[in-house]
Amino acid sequence: MTHDTTGGPTPPAVPWTPQSPDSGLAPPLLNAHLHKLGMTDDPHCPWCPTYLDTPEHLLLQCPRHHSHRTALLQSLLLRRPTLADLLGGSPDPGLAFKILKHTRTFLQKSGQLHRI
Ligand SMILES: [Zn+2]
Repeated sequence: MTHDTTGGPTPPAVPWTPQSPDSGLAPPLLNAHLHKLGMTDDPHCPWCPTYLDTPEHLLLQCPRHHSHRTALLQSLLLRRPTLADLLGGSPDPGLAFKILKHTRTFLQKSGQLHRI
């Protein structure tokens, strides 16, 4: 293993981080989360009655947002990103910041930014 002189995988301060505990944002409003809290009877995606409404489903799977997701993946030059990739999990801070910006754009364009 090589020594990382940039200070390790800690990303730079970013203006928006999903579910960051100190971001001041509301907690995620995805149904799977609300169901655990007893705030909804249905933990499933609003458009996919057999899939749980989770960050993974919203960002990676839900066919409702396919066109916006295609644009996101083309912007990032990623073919099969993971949830961690899309939430800024890259060890490269510059890349993590770039991906987070595109993920936010995806959520804005799909009208889901308020839910995550
Ligand atoms: Zn769905």
